[in-house]
Amino acid sequence: MTDLYAVFGNPIAHSKSPYIHTAFASETGEDLRYEARLAPLDGFSKAARQFFAIGGKGCNITVPFKEEAFSLADELTPRARKAGAVNTLKAEAGRLLGDNTDGAGLLADIEQNLAFPVAGRRVLLLGAGGAARGALPALLARQPLCLVIANRGASRAVSLAEMFQGVKGMGFADLGGSFDLIINATSASLAGEALPLPTGIFAPGSLAYDMMYGDTPFLAQARAAGAGMRAHGLGMLIEQAAEAFFFWRGKRPRTDLLRQKMLLENQV
Ligand code: NDP
Repeated sequence: MTDLYAVFGNPIAHSKSPYIHTAFASETGEDLRYEARLAPLDGFSKAARQFFAIGGKGCNITVPFKEEAFSLADELTPRARKAGAVNTLKAEAGRLLGDNTDGAGLLADIEQNLAFPVAGRRVLLLGAGGAARGALPALLARQPLCLVIANRGASRAVSLAEMFQGVKGMGFADLGGSFDLIINATSASLAGEALPLPTGIFAPGSLAYDMMYGDTPFLAQARAAGAGMRAHGLGMLIEQAAEAFFFWRGKRPRTDLLRQKMLLENQV
């Protein structure tokens, strides 16, 4: 029987995850089907439970359900527990295991694919939702010089920062100084909106990274403000998907060829 997987989100029509996991399955010879499922904003847990009740083997979780998925999991991997957010669930012996592959995916893209080591850098993380939570422990493990979280709702950034030693949280208006790595983990780009950021935050030679893929308002802002390097989140998307695939199937698919193929096909 073909195993069933899915990604839950709202919105979900833009998701490239079905394409990516179908490509991984074909490359590794795994027999699975992967679908995109729209969950109502107040109905993720119910939709996920129904999916597992009909035999779903695993799912990914995207905007805005990662914190709810954290509460739904019966067991957590250490990195999901640290993040307080889950982007991957797996059914095993009647229990739901929750993982968070976002941080590993982000770091693989920034450090390996883009050859930008995080150690010793001044890092600014924009956003305090599920994606930022996943990124935070992975970024800190690389020992940056400093790490600041800024969010539209300042109190959310402050409370997230308080959970980690040496991290500062604030609103966009309180930002000062410049950074070497500026990561947009807000969903503003998904809505086609730019962030109200001071232009001085992008140091010359800095890397501006938008977790959203495509030519985003944030990357246009970064270009205008002089950020030397700019990257969008396609690489992270593929790397975090490969981690999730490994969590489910115990096989690690190649990511480099798929990334090239999706870029050539203009799949962003
Ligand atoms: P959440 O819904 O959990 O969090 C959304 C965050 O964005 C919050 O910090 C929210 O701020 C902020 N935000 C939303 N709208 C705006 C706006 N108009 N202006 C400023 N801030 C805004 O979403 P996720 O954290 O799960 O996802 C965030 C983004 O990261 C999405 O675009 C998603 O597609 C992308 N992503 C990409 C991945 C990849 O592999 N490339 C992996 C994971 C996520 P507030 O608290 O004030 O509401």
